[in-house]
Amino acid sequence: MTDLKKLIRPHLLALKPYSSARDEYSGTIGTFLDANENPYGSVISEKYNRYPDPHQYEIKKKLGKLKHISPTNIFIGNGSDEAIDLLIKAFCEPKKDAILLLPPTYGMYQVCADIQEVKTIYAPLTPEFEIDKDAIAKAITAKTKMIWICSPNNPSGNLVSTQLIEELLTEYPSKIIVIDEAYIDFTQQKSFIESLGKFKNLVIIQTFSKAWGMAGLRVGVCYAAEEIIAVLDKIKYPYNLNAFTQKKVLKALQHEDKKNKFVEKIIKNRIWLENKLTKLPNVTKIFPSDSNQLLVRFEDASAVFEYLLTKKVIVRDRTKVLLCDGCIRISVGTMEENKKLMKALKKFVRNDNVPTP
Ligand SMILES: *Cc1c(COP(=O)(O)O)cnc(C)c1O
Repeated sequence: MTDLKKLIRPHLLALKPYSSARDEYSGTIGTFLDANENPYGSVISEKYNRYPDPHQYEIKKKLGKLKHISPTNIFIGNGSDEAIDLLIKAFCEPKKDAILLLPPTYGMYQVCADIQEVKTIYAPLTPEFEIDKDAIAKAITAKTKMIWICSPNNPSGNLVSTQLIEELLTEYPSKIIVIDEAYIDFTQQKSFIESLGKFKNLVIIQTFSKAWGMAGLRVGVCYAAEEIIAVLDKIKYPYNLNAFTQKKVLKALQHEDKKNKFVEKIIKNRIWLENKLTKLPNVTKIFPSDSNQLLVRFEDASAVFEYLLTKKVIVRDRTKVLLCDGCIRISVGTMEENKKLMKALKKFVRNDNVPTP
């Protein structure tokens, strides 16, 4: 039912991508006089004079083993942001096609669509941040090429119903359904990766930026059908992942246990934080979180936000975001950081910082 050849932009199917020196000869042993590199080394002591593997094969092999999927189903990007950008470029004609967003959600889907002049239409989540299938059915048109779902969602932190996602995958086989699983490591829920064989219209995004603790390196991953990965590979910059990053990611992949320990700690801290926040008189709601963030509704959110800034505690003001009125998004920190936050919040309450009328 899903015909990817019809969904991918036609000119990209025909596109002849840049062929790098490393594409034309992929062996590792030889006398390399093909890429105009500096043969001596680098001006710093570590050597970066050779171009990196444009296809990041070693990483894909290792990651494939870890996720039980073939390297041909994996795209690695300069952050998930690259994957988001390329996916929109792969499927949507500017000024013609649209993507469907489920706000409140991660801001980059909107920005990448805006840059490409791709239209955005909306089917907001329910007030409890669950998928609203009726709203989706009403919003969707023939021009809608993709549905973007974030689960666990940012900024609300909750997992959305896997049942509803599966229904969407089945009911909309001619729409690409992207599930952004940036926070999947923080849940017990299995990734949708294992459903890739079942749904050709399914695309999954994950990242090394959160649980793995590698945000500074910029590594995001996209899992999808081979035809989709092939297009992303065609339209990316040839060397989108630099040599340093590739080395570090390979190293990171040997330490999944450490990632799991971080996750355990962060979840424990989140529960501690939830517990303390509940006791504050000006907190009216803490939304259930399956991630490393807490969306918290305060009676006086803007005053709280400003006060925290004066104490050099920086949280995210989400009060202007749809369905997040009165809400602040708090990233779970170390216990030391969380205690600092709670100390400041208690002080705010004690001082009875009522916003001046
Ligand atoms: C943090 C986050 C990402 C990560 O983006 P990177 O570019 O990989 O750092 C992706 N999606 C969501 C929803 C996020 O919150």
